[in-house]
Amino acid sequence: MRYFILFGPPGAGKGTHAGAIAKKYNLRHISTGELLRAEIAAGTELGLHAQSLISAGSLVPDSVVEGMIEKAFDTIKDVDGFLLDGFPRTLGQAQDLDKILEKRGEKVDAVISIMIPDEVVHERIKHRATVEGRADDASDEVVSNRIKTYHNQTEPLIDYYKKAGNYHEAAGHPGTIEQNQARILAMIDKEIG
Ligand code: ATP
Ligand code: MG
Repeated sequence: MRYFILFGPPGAGKGTHAGAIAKKYNLRHISTGELLRAEIAAGTELGLHAQSLISAGSLVPDSVVEGMIEKAFDTIKDVDGFLLDGFPRTLGQAQDLDKILEKRGEKVDAVISIMIPDEVVHERIKHRATVEGRADDASDEVVSNRIKTYHNQTEPLIDYYKKAGNYHEAAGHPGTIEQNQARILAMIDKEIG
C-alpha cells in the first residue's frame, strides 16, 4: 500500500482536488473532517464530543482521529493506498502515524501540500459558508481561530516532512479550480511521478 498525505491550510482545496489525485494512484480518499462530520450527523458519543471543539475552531484529540485512521487502514483493502486529507494536523499525529505505519511495515510515501495565504482562506471559507452551510465556516471568529490553530499546531509539520525528504508543494491559488488542479497535478507528475 502507498500512503499519501494531502496537506494545507483550511480552504486550500484539499477536498476539491482529492478526487483527481486519488484516481491517479487508485487511492482511497480519507478526510478526517468528513468522518467527524458524519459522526456528528449520526449523533454518536464521539460526534457529540467533537462538535463543541470543531465549532470553536479547535482540534479534536489526537487519539480520536488516530483511531479513525487505524480503523480505515485495518478495513479498507480494495485499493493501492490511501490519500489522507486533514490528517496529520499536529506533530504528535505525524509521529504516531509514522509508528502506526512502521508497525505495518509501511511509511508515508509523499506529502502533497497545497498552499494559499491567510486572506484567501477567509475569502474561500466565506464563500463556502453560503454553499455548504458548515457551522464552523459561518463565523469570522471561528475561521480566524482555525487559521491560528493551523499556524500554531499544523504548520510545523512542513519542516517535519521536509526533513523526512518527502514534502512537495504547489500553489492553491490564484486561478480557477481547473487551473489550480492542473498546476497541482503537474507538480505531482514532476516530483512524485
Ligand atoms: P478544508 O477546507 O481543506 O477541507 P478544513 O480545516 O476547513 O479544511 P476539515 O479538514 O474538514 O476542514 O476539518 C474540520 C474540523 O475537524 C477541524 O477544524 C478540526 O476541528 C477537526 N479535525 C479534522 N481533522 C482533524 C485532525 N487530524 N486532528 C484534529 N482535529 C481534526
Ligand atoms: Mg476538507
